Amino acid sequence: MKSAVFAALLVAAPAAAATPSGISDASLKADTAQLASDAFEGRKPGTPGGDKAVAYIEQRFAAIGLEAGNHGRWTQDVPLVTITTAPTPLVLSGCAGGAQECRAATRTALSYGTDVVLWTKRQVATQTLANSPVVFVGYGITAPEKGWDDYAGLDVRGKTVVILVNDPDWQTPTAGKDAGPFEGRAETYYGRYTYKFEEAARHGAAAAFVVHDTEPAGYGWNVITTSWTGPQIDLDQPDKGMGRVGVEGWITKAAFERMLGAAATGKDLFALTKAAQTKGFRAVPLGLQASATLSNEITHSASKNVIGVIPGRRFPSETVLVTAHWDHLGRCPADATGDDICNGAVDNASGVAGVLTLAEAFARGPQPARTVVFMAVTGEESGLLGSRWYAEHPVYPLALTAGGVNMDGLNVGGRTHDITISGGGKSDLDTMATLVAKAQGRFVAPEPSPEKGGYFRSDHFSFAKLGVPMLRAGSGVDRLDGGIPAGQAAAADYTAHRYHQPSDNYDPKWDWSGAVEDLDLYYAVLRGLADSHAWPNWYAGTEFKAIRDTTAGERHP
Ligand SMILES: [Zn+2]
Repeated sequence: MKSAVFAALLVAAPAAAATPSGISDASLKADTAQLASDAFEGRKPGTPGGDKAVAYIEQRFAAIGLEAGNHGRWTQDVPLVTITTAPTPLVLSGCAGGAQECRAATRTALSYGTDVVLWTKRQVATQTLANSPVVFVGYGITAPEKGWDDYAGLDVRGKTVVILVNDPDWQTPTAGKDAGPFEGRAETYYGRYTYKFEEAARHGAAAAFVVHDTEPAGYGWNVITTSWTGPQIDLDQPDKGMGRVGVEGWITKAAFERMLGAAATGKDLFALTKAAQTKGFRAVPLGLQASATLSNEITHSASKNVIGVIPGRRFPSETVLVTAHWDHLGRCPADATGDDICNGAVDNASGVAGVLTLAEAFARGPQPARTVVFMAVTGEESGLLGSRWYAEHPVYPLALTAGGVNMDGLNVGGRTHDITISGGGKSDLDTMATLVAKAQGRFVAPEPSPEKGGYFRSDHFSFAKLGVPMLRAGSGVDRLDGGIPAGQAAAADYTAHRYHQPSDNYDPKWDWSGAVEDLDLYYAVLRGLADSHAWPNWYAGTEFKAIRDTTAGERHP
């Protein structure tokens, strides 16, 4: 049941949509053009171009009239570590053919890059995995609120767990009576590989491998090899990564099948998958031992989140978050035109311009009741690093952060009849956004590929994971000019020809009218939150509600 305060907010937010926010495309264009210019060299953290982006945003925050957001400083340091590993092949040894005793020992070596990709997040010169017993743990999920535990009755300390990607019901419909317990085809956080490694660490496993499969993973093996080989940048955590599983990795489906051929279970991948998709599944020891050695080169660096605030008038200790990542890929392989700068105009100079534009709108309006925190975060492209660091070391307590909006790529192709809400239907913010869209004469369209887990792929997720309700809306596809075919064609063209490529350049001919309408929507939601004393929450049964509820006592209704 909704509290009266929240019910009032559901009326106030769409009403705010009727009040002109004064948002125009003027600074959207100017800021995007600046941040995406060659002078910023693609805004890679740790480069002069990255430093320039930080300085630019800081100076813009100050010019807008924000206050420095980190105890008088404009930035928060984000310590980073880069580990480059040189691993041996992953060797599996054991007994062949399901014999009770070991008559014929087998030895299977999985090659680095083709069969397996492995790494360690531990800051150690050498990480070894020695004769670690291998256990198939299905989807590797412990979800008490769903009565599901793939680790039930199992002690995996010192063992190597092998895990299927996505969640058990990814082949069922997204909604309706045939949808499975994990939101059907839509991916829940339990389906993400990051979750699988975290859960394996909680259970004390020595190593964890996720089995790659293109459809449920959402990308091919080529993405795994390009993303997970070479120098790996991550947060320099106080525990130096020792809380992580010692060896993490992906293996191909074919390699896992070879592994099963050598194992003593007599079960093939089909049978094991079927069992893993059934509630009450029990983990299966494979009768194999895994061994590998990883030699690591370790370097340290730092980057910065940029934070500016408008202090709250009535509830200054309560905050509302507005975020976008400033970093991009920097120099990258030259394209056919010889362009070797990945400028990241849409991704995500436009999102930072959105944060600046919303800051201007708030600065023009009455002082909000709550403090509004505007933040441009670093390291998104390397795994949501800046937002993760803030979420784990917040300047303003997450328990008193009412909610927020993250932007990653604004619509530069004109107005749409619809908007999409990523991970739609998870929290009260989605309801607010839906009502505001309606007040704008728009509607919420279903997310085009919910199985790809879009909600877990940008910075809002770092906050959501620790309980803060965060809205991530995307531009719709149903364009006023050209309808759904035009919107779909533009989206496909961006993915194929500009996304993470040197051609993601600023274009003065872009039509920002759709972005302005989206920003009006964000402004209405944020204004509603910032001027109220209501606490939106996650819906019952969603994966982030339990952690939010642990701090419920700190929020005064
Ligand atoms: Zn991005």
